[in-house]
Amino acid sequence: MPARAIINLQALRYNYRRAAELSPMARVMPVIKARAYGHGMTEVAYALDQAEQFAVATLDEALLLRANGLSKKILVLQGVNSKEQLLRAVQEEISLVVHQQHQVALLESVELPGRVNIWIKLDTGMHRLGFKVSDFDAIYQRCNKTSNKLNLHVLSHFANADDPDDPLTNQQLDRFLQATRDCKVEKSIANSAAICGPLDCQLDWVRPGIMLYGVHPMMAGTASELSLKPVMTLYSHLIAIHHRKRGDRIGYGGDWTCTEDMPVGIISIGYGDGYPRHAPSGTPVLIKGKRVSLVGRVSMDMICVDLRSCPDAKVGDEATLWGEGLPVEDIARAASTIAYELLCRLTGRVKFIYT
Ligand SMILES: *Cc1c(COP(=O)(O)O)cnc(C)c1O
Repeated sequence: MPARAIINLQALRYNYRRAAELSPMARVMPVIKARAYGHGMTEVAYALDQAEQFAVATLDEALLLRANGLSKKILVLQGVNSKEQLLRAVQEEISLVVHQQHQVALLESVELPGRVNIWIKLDTGMHRLGFKVSDFDAIYQRCNKTSNKLNLHVLSHFANADDPDDPLTNQQLDRFLQATRDCKVEKSIANSAAICGPLDCQLDWVRPGIMLYGVHPMMAGTASELSLKPVMTLYSHLIAIHHRKRGDRIGYGGDWTCTEDMPVGIISIGYGDGYPRHAPSGTPVLIKGKRVSLVGRVSMDMICVDLRSCPDAKVGDEATLWGEGLPVEDIARAASTIAYELLCRLTGRVKFIYT
């Protein structure tokens, strides 16, 4: 039996309601890029039936949602880079971010078959995508003057909203509001961390991603403080138990040595499924409600666990790698990464089950 990711769509809808409650003045645009952070883009889009609009990273992701019958608004956060892509997006009524001159030039040079929603992206301090705030008026005027019918909006993105002590977040908000002060279009800047943070930056639309999947967006913290519910629980099971002797070395490289005679369990999951290869000995795994520790290196298909704290474990028992009862944040911290990466990296070998 392969590893299974159980996706709890009720928990997803609960987290969506939390985002909406925290942003009573705004509309909620769920971010479902990267297969909805690994949860399944189409399933998540259909489960969030209250949302009017979704955000994805690329045109291909938006086209996949259209191919699966989704007729709601979809915003492509990276926008498009060719005439063909632009025409395709407009035909499919897909909204686009415009973040560089080349994309404005495309809007000026192509005769579009219909109206299109355009979101002008400003760089307020993230220094990744977007126009300088000082260029906003000029870009806005240029977009307004094209012969195409563009519904203009404006957005920006926070770099460090997960750190409530970083003054950059407030500065970014100030720059954004200042630059767009005289412009009566819909505005958006808040990601999950900003929605959960101390600043009032709801504006017209908020764009939660990670919090919808039940992960606490702030640097230190777990979802329960915010009462978010984990959406994905990753399970596999014990396929063998061995009684090892003191001094036995476990797995590739023999990195971990038994300090006494002890039971070691083998669980059918590895980096071939998306379990992080860099998870060190000591990373927790849940068996029969008890935390046991990973020992030795993560292999492609298997991990080994110290069963001293769970002596009644049997072959066939279920093991939780993360999710309900074992926050994915804990595994991310142990493996020196972030929950975003763990969630979106499960491979096709894992069976997804929606409840
Ligand atoms: C990914 C993304 C989001 C969502 O961020 P979270 O931290 O997951 O809430 C919002 N806006 C933009 C532009 C993004 O790229």
